Amino acid sequence: MSLSARKTTPNDEIAAALQLVFEHANQCFATADAFFGTTFKRSVCNLKQRGKAAGTAHLQKNELRFNYFMYQQNPAEFLNSVVPHEVAHMVVYQIYGNSVKPHGKEWQAVMFRVFGIRPNRTHTFDVPPQKSSYEYHCSCQKHHFSKQRHTRAQKGTEYICKKCRCSLQFMSKKSTVAS
Ligand SMILES: [Zn+2]
Ligand SMILES: [Zn+2]
Repeated sequence: MSLSARKTTPNDEIAAALQLVFEHANQCFATADAFFGTTFKRSVCNLKQRGKAAGTAHLQKNELRFNYFMYQQNPAEFLNSVVPHEVAHMVVYQIYGNSVKPHGKEWQAVMFRVFGIRPNRTHTFDVPPQKSSYEYHCSCQKHHFSKQRHTRAQKGTEYICKKCRCSLQFMSKKSTVAS
């Protein structure tokens, strides 16, 4: 029996996303370098951002955190809006320090004049839902359904376990977890 080709795991996807985010941030820094005729310090990037923010700039740490949940919704849009937004915070901080407002005219000018982007404080990505989990069972294991899938099941859509081929039956609703 031959082994199938190496599958992409979620970890590979996260690493690839981080690489793209990092490259894009560096491009933004290079654009700012050229505009201001200087060399800005590059930031550490990660995908640790959770919750409602698409990204945050940790100025003293020189660290940019990005929200992978939102990245996945539209990577191109994320790279072209959220990444420059956060890099602009760093650029403004490196020029002005803490003396200006986060989304003030200096930040807006970097967005608009340096990156050519209409400065926008807010993003249009979906925020992580309050996850309700609905437990179903077959004859071999428990399954967790999203609310959406639970609704479909209750309206008559039949879901079959891939392992045992049994139809899944609703057991109970689990407690709500914010993600
Ligand atoms: Zn901001
Ligand atoms: Zn099963």
